[in-house]
Amino acid sequence: MSAEVHSSSEANSPRMHLLTKGADLLGIPLAERQIDLFQTYAEELVDWNRKVNLTAITGYEDIQTKHFVDSLTCFLAFPGVARRDHPPLIGSIPPLAGIRVIDVGTGGGFPGLPLKIARPEISLTLLDSVAKKTKFLEHVVQKLGLTWVDVVTGRAEEIARDPLHRERYDVVVSRAVAELATLMEYCLPLAKIGGRAIALKKGALEEELRTGQKAINLLGGRFGEMIPVELPGLLELRYAITAEKVAPTPASYPRRPGVPAKKPL
Ligand code: SAM
Repeated sequence: MSAEVHSSSEANSPRMHLLTKGADLLGIPLAERQIDLFQTYAEELVDWNRKVNLTAITGYEDIQTKHFVDSLTCFLAFPGVARRDHPPLIGSIPPLAGIRVIDVGTGGGFPGLPLKIARPEISLTLLDSVAKKTKFLEHVVQKLGLTWVDVVTGRAEEIARDPLHRERYDVVVSRAVAELATLMEYCLPLAKIGGRAIALKKGALEEELRTGQKAINLLGGRFGEMIPVELPGLLELRYAITAEKVAPTPASYPRRPGVPAKKPL
């Protein structure tokens, strides 16, 4: 399957020009082969989105900035990354071979799949509760020829109790899934001791941070950082919020499916 993913105003611009610009500003230069993979991913996303509700963002420019570049900003919060306060925002990323990453509530693959395309050495698990979405993810992972990617259909509250997943990940990423307190109940049980959860967020976050910090402490975590991310002209201000996993998550968490969202910690 393939779909035309460009608008008339873009017809004369180089392929994926906003993605490459954003990646350069971040300090994650992409090779031609990686840009090809992003292009195919965008085409498949738009094509499948006609039948499966994967995203409201379907324009060629928006997919590049709001999905691909936004997802790549997660690297700013990865362990061992040297950050700078002006572009390129990342000085260096350490080798990530053997690092296990899970994306909780990944939907159409964000932020997990862009991270994998940019740094293929990571081992990635994509988790979503909606089977139609994970079917798309299985398709796109195969189409892009990506290895070391597992696609899991299930609710985070259940998967985080499965010994195959509980406390197994170095990095747990998530975007646009739930408020911080609920999200941390999904994510922190999946992180190894010494690992971390990274939530991409935007908007007014004071109240969320207050309740979120309480939840983080109850779940064996410690609040890490709130890293502001802005790429003028490409991405408005947003944040990568981190929590470090410093102790085992008590066995009572996460609570039954639905409870973390209905009664946030
Ligand atoms: N992270 C993607 C993004 O930023 O484009 C998708 C965001 S979408 C608004 C939220 C996704 O989280 C949906 O695909 C939904 O099925 C999934 N989700 C919500 N609650 C979940 C849970 N408890 N366990 C697993 N997936 C969940």
